[in-house]
Amino acid sequence: MEFKAVRGTKDILPDTVKVWQYIEGKAKKILECYGYQEIRTPIFEETNLFVRGIGETTDIVSKEMYTFLDKKGRSLTLRPEGTAPVVRAYIEHRLDTRGSPIRLYYFGPMFRYERPQAGRQRQFWQLGIEVLGTSHPSIDAEVIDMTMYLLQELGLNELEVQINSVGCGVCRPRYKEALIRYLSPFFKDLCKSCKEKLSRNPMRILDCKVCFDLKISSPVMIEFLCDRCKDHFEGVKEYLDMLEVTFILKPHLVRGLDYYTNTCFEIIDKNLGAQDAVCAGGRYDGLVEEFGGKPTPAFGASAGIERIIVALEKQGVDVPSSTKVDVYFATIGSRVKKKVFSLVKDLRKKDISTIFEWNDKSLKASLREANRLRSRFVVIIGDTELNRNQAILKDMETGEQKEISLSGLVNVISNLLRRGCK
Ligand code: ATP
Ligand code: MG
Repeated sequence: MEFKAVRGTKDILPDTVKVWQYIEGKAKKILECYGYQEIRTPIFEETNLFVRGIGETTDIVSKEMYTFLDKKGRSLTLRPEGTAPVVRAYIEHRLDTRGSPIRLYYFGPMFRYERPQAGRQRQFWQLGIEVLGTSHPSIDAEVIDMTMYLLQELGLNELEVQINSVGCGVCRPRYKEALIRYLSPFFKDLCKSCKEKLSRNPMRILDCKVCFDLKISSPVMIEFLCDRCKDHFEGVKEYLDMLEVTFILKPHLVRGLDYYTNTCFEIIDKNLGAQDAVCAGGRYDGLVEEFGGKPTPAFGASAGIERIIVALEKQGVDVPSSTKVDVYFATIGSRVKKKVFSLVKDLRKKDISTIFEWNDKSLKASLREANRLRSRFVVIIGDTELNRNQAILKDMETGEQKEISLSGLVNVISNLLRRGCK
């Protein structure tokens, strides 16, 4: 029997892991500089959390969730996104008492039953950011600017920020009515799923790739904004200008989750094809209250790691490797190996990454392996060297070889590495 990774999932093999570590490392550094703290929530939650949070008529809830019953018949769902779980944890653990606003981020896999294609998987990873406890428009700008800065620091330079406002409970109903009025005469031209959306959730039609043409001259939300939403949106644009973030106003931009209010945004990478959004998010001022917490305005964003990786590849960004081998031992004979076994541990305890094999290999094979692993040094010890308590240290960059005493080996290597011979 032959097993394969499940459709829509991918193994991340050692060669690719270095890209992941690069992204995660940079993200952590930048986010912590902006005062964000990491949060890790469970991979699965009660199904209702997502149904209530994301909205029943959204694509995610209506067709993309991995939902199952556990042995006690409880309905659970593999998280399709990270905001609802973070909001649940925020309320459950009274995180409002730990700072207001509280700045959080997460990095982890999400699950959506979608048709796998370039930039679309069933298990994919997101870096998410959530700020809870402030409605100040500067936060919207801070998060957009920070994610842009991160993406640029990673090496992406064909990015575009697109923004819009989706209004609030006060002004949105009026807009929805206008949209229904505008779209109704085109009912027969709508795709099957948009026909269903027309009366229940007409704004979702704006997000449909099939019914794209119909929306071009449809009414737009920004013309229906109430005074508060208008002020907020003006504020966001002003703060983005202050931070020198270039953005494009996209009056038809909406998000696939119902909890958004006011600002919504996407960052697209122009090198990607159809799935070009590397990051998306917006404000969700009603969600905490919807989940039973105190009214708490909030803003969030999430970036798709696989899409960032494709964008980095398309742009040919050279990603440095974070894994390294400092020393490879080429030893011959069991007498030598017994002596070296504990020495290897001494090196590792000094933070020097070391590879040692118990199986015998010829010197030539050992050097080939050391090269493949891009080891900085090779230590060669045979019976002759052991009898004299010596070892041969080969510098793999210069090819230079010298004899050193076995007792001083750890110190010599550690000093060489410290002097920049990494
Ligand atoms: P799309 O319009 O591409 O379906 P979305 O609106 O469903 O995106 P969000 O829920 O806002 O996406 O998720 C944020 C980011 O996560 C997206 O911008 C994208 O980079 C990434 N993402 C979403 N779904 C997938 C997926 N199935 N596979 C890979 N990445 C994804
Ligand atoms: Mg989607």
